[in-house]
Amino acid sequence: MPIEAPDVLVVGLGPAGSRAAAVAASAGLSVIALERRKTAGSPVQCAEFVPALIEHDVPAVRAVTAQKVTRMLTFAGAHPPKVTEHFQGLMIDRGAFDRLLAQEAARDGAECRYSGTVLSVDADGAVTTSIGAHLRPKVLIGADGPRSPVGAAIGRINRDLVDTRQVTVPLILPHDATDIFLSPDYHGGYAWLFPKGAVANIGLGVSVESRRLLKPLLAALCENLANERRIGTRTLALTGGAIPVGGRLRSVGHLGRTAVLLAGDAAGLTNPVTGAGIASAVQSGTLAGRAAADFLGDCPGAIEAYDEELGDIFNAALNRALRRRREVLACYAGGGRPDTRALSDGWIASPHYWAA
Ligand SMILES: Cc1cc2nc3c(=O)[nH]c(=O)nc-3n(C[C@H](O)[C@H](O)[C@H](O)COP(=O)(O)OP(=O)(O)OC[C@H]3O[C@@H](n4cnc5c(N)ncnc54)[C@H](O)[C@@H]3O)c2cc1C
Repeated sequence: MPIEAPDVLVVGLGPAGSRAAAVAASAGLSVIALERRKTAGSPVQCAEFVPALIEHDVPAVRAVTAQKVTRMLTFAGAHPPKVTEHFQGLMIDRGAFDRLLAQEAARDGAECRYSGTVLSVDADGAVTTSIGAHLRPKVLIGADGPRSPVGAAIGRINRDLVDTRQVTVPLILPHDATDIFLSPDYHGGYAWLFPKGAVANIGLGVSVESRRLLKPLLAALCENLANERRIGTRTLALTGGAIPVGGRLRSVGHLGRTAVLLAGDAAGLTNPVTGAGIASAVQSGTLAGRAAADFLGDCPGAIEAYDEELGDIFNAALNRALRRRREVLACYAGGGRPDTRALSDGWIASPHYWAA
């Protein structure tokens, strides 16, 4: 089997990988993008909320938007919800969003191969795949999600993960807010109801050690919401998945002569409190594609500069979220539990969250 040697190999065609592939291919590089799924974005493992500002990076997002969100309601304890006005977001069809970005990458010249899993990445940067191909790229971009094999090859592993479970159910009345449910039962996470037209995504995330509680806790939340006549009882879809919550990993490395860049979840760019990672995947993927082009265009410093730029953009927000997450988790020490105040202070709707 001959060894292929593209300028860039992108592993994963989620938002980060598609963006990286599109930008690198647009710069004239030969780009192969490998995705283990049959199509990009399917099955969906997402609550499908993005900040409205993502439209600057992905103007076509409107074509895949199901509805707008204007507020956030935070439920903690028995109090009425705290209302956060001017919380502008979009509920998207995530499958269509990922397909759109992958199509843009192909249109820009990346060769996108599906149903191909990266099986191993060796110390020289040689990549073995399930579809028989062997590749030795000049630049390897790991956009392969929270349990990134490319990241593992350069010793960057997301060790702190939240596990999630989500159902899509009928929504009885139209809703314009994301609802957030905080509870000491949701160890290391929270629950959500995100409206999407006539349906809602209702989900729950908890630290992996508590994952056995996901099913009963989500069932109890859904029962409450059905009793309040907010949702129907029919489950239209069920999903879940891991979310990295340990903060940013160093996103660059070398395997022999191959330069390695990580983007999106693989680089630990998901917010440790909210779990949001689509916008940062798009942004980091774009920068990774550009860094690959600069590096191969005779700018050897472009690899380190990529990691520095990610730090400049994301460190402040991710480090704040990490601190808040740890403050809440500390309340469980010695068998304790966070009270309503501690839970609220650790959530983005609270002024305390944003304090120094
Ligand atoms: C239940 C849930 C709800 C979420 N809700 C939201 C939300 O509402 N808003 C938000 O902003 N974020 C949300 N997130 C987080 C968000 O989905 C991620 O941050 C985002 O998908 C990261 O994009 P990515 O491109 O880095 O990785 P991914 O989207 O995970 O893409 C990685 C791709 O790599 C592929 N891949 C992995 N390993 C291999 C391999 N060995 N070979 C080939 N291909 C491989 C995968 O199949 C996948 O397509 C949620 C996550 C979960 C689990």
